[in-house]
Amino acid sequence: MEHKRVWTNNELEDLVRQLSLALEATQLGIWQHNIAKNQTRWDEQLQRIYGVEKGLLDVVWLESVHPDDLVAAQTIFEQAVDSRCDYASEFRIVTPEGYVRHIRSRAKFFIDVNSDPCFIGAEWDVTEDVLRATQLAREHEAAERSRAEARHAADHDYLTGLRNRRAFDRLLDEDLGDNVTEMALAHIDIDHFKEINDRFGHAGGDKVLKHVAHIIRSVVSHDEVGVRLGGDEFAVLVKQGAERLHTVVTAIRAALAFPVEIDATSVQIECSIGLTTAPKSDANTLLSYSDIALYEAKRSGRNRDTLFSPEMAAKAAASRSMLETIRRGIENSDFLPYYQVQVDAKSGQVVGLEALARWASPGGLRTPVDFLELAAMNGLLEKLDDMILRKVLSDLAQWTLADLDPPRVSVNLSAARLEDPTLPQKLARLSIPKGRVSFELIETIFLDKLSNQAKANIAAIRDLGIGIEIDDLGSGHASLLGLLELKPDRVKLDKLLVIPAGHNVAPRTLVSSLVQIARALGIEVVAEGVETEQLADTMAKLGVDILQGYAFGQPQPAQEIVSHFRSRDPHRRSACAIMQP
Ligand code: C2E
Ligand code: CA
Ligand code: CA
Repeated sequence: MEHKRVWTNNELEDLVRQLSLALEATQLGIWQHNIAKNQTRWDEQLQRIYGVEKGLLDVVWLESVHPDDLVAAQTIFEQAVDSRCDYASEFRIVTPEGYVRHIRSRAKFFIDVNSDPCFIGAEWDVTEDVLRATQLAREHEAAERSRAEARHAADHDYLTGLRNRRAFDRLLDEDLGDNVTEMALAHIDIDHFKEINDRFGHAGGDKVLKHVAHIIRSVVSHDEVGVRLGGDEFAVLVKQGAERLHTVVTAIRAALAFPVEIDATSVQIECSIGLTTAPKSDANTLLSYSDIALYEAKRSGRNRDTLFSPEMAAKAAASRSMLETIRRGIENSDFLPYYQVQVDAKSGQVVGLEALARWASPGGLRTPVDFLELAAMNGLLEKLDDMILRKVLSDLAQWTLADLDPPRVSVNLSAARLEDPTLPQKLARLSIPKGRVSFELIETIFLDKLSNQAKANIAAIRDLGIGIEIDDLGSGHASLLGLLELKPDRVKLDKLLVIPAGHNVAPRTLVSSLVQIARALGIEVVAEGVETEQLADTMAKLGVDILQGYAFGQPQPAQEIVSHFRSRDPHRRSACAIMQP
């Protein structure tokens, strides 16, 4: 049996004081609603929250509730009335001044002394909390969005939108999914991209990269992957084996057949592609194998597809180690010019020298066949050319100092260097003696359509008193058009044309025509590969101006070639003797 406590007046007063203090501290507004009589009492705090003054028993609550929350608030209340249950609710009100406030409400059901159903409720203003929560949610969403963007940016190439190398590596490490028969990879590299970039600037280069990426995207299906591995390298991964890869590559080639417009010039994009397949379990070898196959595709002439084979891997390893030795050779300055004489076809006087690169390698002296291609494919040609040129200048200076009256020296220059905008400054710094040096332009890919940069560089080279020669004419590289535009000082007939001209009519006729054209343009003609006296006679008769070849001497080191200078001027014999050991 519960003992009913009797409160003293003092205790009751204390209790009321505590309660009102608590209400004030919590800013709670209190209301009571007699459902039977439909009367409400609000305390002062609640009236302050709502900003309304009401008659003692008036029911005004819903008049303040925000129109958008009205139905919900009313429904909760009516359900509580029906079920005679406590309830909790949250809604907005609009104060008479038009401010929107968020209100949280708790109400308890009870039956009063007159047996009327009633609710007693407390309400408080949670506007600050709600606004803070909304703000936090907004910030959270923005953070999520920027995290997602960062993730996308980290996995995709900003320029082309394709996946990047990082994402690709991860993909190969991850489970590639069922439905994979055989992994196959095409490793795609744009041919001559550096030249395109040099010629059309970065905007032009970017356009080409986007073009290729667009083609890749358009040919891969949704479960295949297009990647920009970096620079001008792309890859396509398919999961259905070699046959599917072949289809994809064929489609890429077909699309690439259409040229791109850059600066109102129609440019044909070509690429080399290395292909390989691997079982699903061995996805990580895909890249290294396709890379080897790609290298082989480039080495064997570019613009082709090459399928990986184990022999290629062995060859690649050998090339890599050779390349390392070449790099070291360049660092140690182990490359040097050998000189081969060029003689006047009529007088037999030495009128020029060609500087030919040789490598004093750890295994002995090597000729360009052993290193030139590797150096060129790995971007080392500029350093190599530069080293040869500097040594030629040093030899020339020494010969001049010794009063040996050296003839003009022709130095080979890869045509790609004509696109280097800093070439004139670099050459100017070398203070090359005027009229003493010529450049032989080899690797004639863009000779047909000289870029403005190349034209400017050629003009600058001429201003520096350096001659221009076109090498290997008749070998199929240099076209007559390029020849006309370049207006070189000399052209060199390729030995592959000169040697057969010794015994065949057709090449002889070609030599004769080239001589006539050159003569009409005021260009001197040099024949290289003149191996015999007889061939020398033939060339002289055909009108060739200058002869070079084994008939007159092998390429020789600087200290030996000086012996030939004597024939330039018999009076200088004694000067020559100074140099002879
Ligand atoms: P190239 O400019 O056509 O040079 C002529 C090549 O023919 C030289 O080969 C020379 O030794 C060889 N030769 C000379 N006389 C005769 C002959 O009577 N008969 C035959 N069959 N061959 C003869 P080398 O020195 O092996 O040079 C090969 C190529 O390497 C050169 O061909 C040139 O394109 C390139 N090269 C040489 N030195 C340099 C260099 O410093 N820089 C660059 N970029 N390329 C170079
Ligand atoms: Ca040459
Ligand atoms: Ca040649």
